[in-house]
Amino acid sequence: MDILLVKETLTRDELSFLISLEGVERDYFLKSVGNKYIETLGKKVYFRGLVEFSNYCTKDCYYCGIRKSNNHSERYDIDDQAIIEAAIFAHENKYGSLVLQSGERSDTTFTSRITNLLKAIKEATNGELGITISLGEQSEEVYREWFEAGAHRYLLRIESSNKELYYKIHPEDEKHNFETRINCLKTLQKIGYQTGTGVMIGLPFQSYEQLADDLLFFKDMNIDMVGMGPFIEHTETPLYAHKDILWPLQRRFDVSLNMIAALRLLMPDINIAAATALQAIDPMGREKALRFGANVIMPNITPTLHRKDYTLYENKPCTDEGAEDCSNCLSIRVEMAGREIGYSEWGDSKHYVKRHGKSN
Ligand code: SF4
Repeated sequence: MDILLVKETLTRDELSFLISLEGVERDYFLKSVGNKYIETLGKKVYFRGLVEFSNYCTKDCYYCGIRKSNNHSERYDIDDQAIIEAAIFAHENKYGSLVLQSGERSDTTFTSRITNLLKAIKEATNGELGITISLGEQSEEVYREWFEAGAHRYLLRIESSNKELYYKIHPEDEKHNFETRINCLKTLQKIGYQTGTGVMIGLPFQSYEQLADDLLFFKDMNIDMVGMGPFIEHTETPLYAHKDILWPLQRRFDVSLNMIAALRLLMPDINIAAATALQAIDPMGREKALRFGANVIMPNITPTLHRKDYTLYENKPCTDEGAEDCSNCLSIRVEMAGREIGYSEWGDSKHYVKRHGKSN
């Protein structure tokens, strides 16, 4: 094991071994990565205020509670003024950065609205608030327009880098095309975004080897940021039919932490988010992720009224807290994990800065 902790790079077999660890060996692995990562990256953790501003979606991913075909999902779309106020809240509370997320739409009413919103947020926060967006697959022209309007990071999760598995969790059609998704990631990089992706861990039919391949995919793609967490089934989705072959929730949680630690070894200078889904399984889930490799946390600052409706999975935590409660609770949690908050810092991915010679 010790030899794996100092290797320059790791093979598929070595990663599979680390991802599948259990018991005392696993404890040793996680603790060692935690210590090593403080030495290289320091103790700083960065806040990204998360605004899930709309759950209207034109797509039909088999695992997602807000998929187009789920008629039981209560749809909402927060008005621009409320989004700008949430951004001002993030700025005043020294979050440094904001994440705007919604279901996927690519009509011009939507894309132009986002362009104007980005400009308005930049203006309302003196250009000081960093903006990450997570708005799915778009044309190069739209990605470029949003970049020029002020967004500088983009999250587009691949969910699984294994094509066969991808089509077990998405319909195999033009709207859910595996190659398109990869091309979108490449386009985002070409434009100059700090580019993030991620996967779900513990999907039905998924193997340790496929998870190891996911980590190698992040490295091959030269990704700057990763957000990944346990798969949590939603009753009103097609994937729920496979609930009986899922790993127990605790195993999905444990393997998620193993994945974070293994990725930290493989890519020491990227940003890794402590996904909210971890907390849905273990109340201290995100803090544990911070101990073992994650360095970004995303307090939910979506106006509380709508938070319960953005349920990609069920039992999502913190859906009934106001933004201030969420922020206070997280500050304490970060300190409990032995980390420090980088207040008012964008917290750019060091990997990106190294590749580009500067932050954007
Ligand atoms: S995962 Fe994203 S794109 Fe897929 S249905 Fe859910 S919100 Fe839409």
